[in-house]
Amino acid sequence: MSKKQILALQGDITKQAVEAIVNAANNTLLGGGGVDGAIHRAAGPQLLEECRRLNGCETGEAKITSGYRLPARWVIHTVGPVWQGGNEGEEELLASCYRKSLALAAENQIVSIAFPAISTGVYRFPLEKATKIAVREVNNFLKKPSSIEQIIFVCFSQRAFDCYQEVIQELVPES
Ligand code: ADP
Repeated sequence: MSKKQILALQGDITKQAVEAIVNAANNTLLGGGGVDGAIHRAAGPQLLEECRRLNGCETGEAKITSGYRLPARWVIHTVGPVWQGGNEGEEELLASCYRKSLALAAENQIVSIAFPAISTGVYRFPLEKATKIAVREVNNFLKKPSSIEQIIFVCFSQRAFDCYQEVIQELVPES
């Protein structure tokens, strides 16, 4: 039995006392609405200052910064795809967000990481499809040796929490 853990909880990702939180950012990395706005507000203006030096981020890629005033030491910024019906590579791009974020976390020896439901807000990715991709990718990642031991899906809504619970039960029954 591995001591690695995948779990879902309902709450605000900015409040999570994990080593890294993931931001569902946009290509500019200069802040926005939703979870991105909440993270920038909670981290304070130094986060935006550091983000300005990163020259944006491609969709499906990830970049790391400090967490400043957040309880989390690090923020991993990833840019999810805008859902355009499913024929524009959205599923693969979303999977890439999870893989690249986890790879960056592992490069930085991070042990615990929290993800929001990337792309499922303003970017309109269907929640159930997105959840299956998220859980599949993190579960695959945890099968390989890395620093990461705990992955938390922080769900803002009851609906997202119920969906994650169901998919985790289905894809990671031993969790
Ligand atoms: P995207 O543009 O990638 O769709 P959004 O921020 O619009 O990003 O939404 C992504 C998800 O984050 C949505 O499920 C939304 O409900 C959720 N969310 C919004 N604020 C928070 C927060 N403070 N903590 C965790 N999740 C949040």
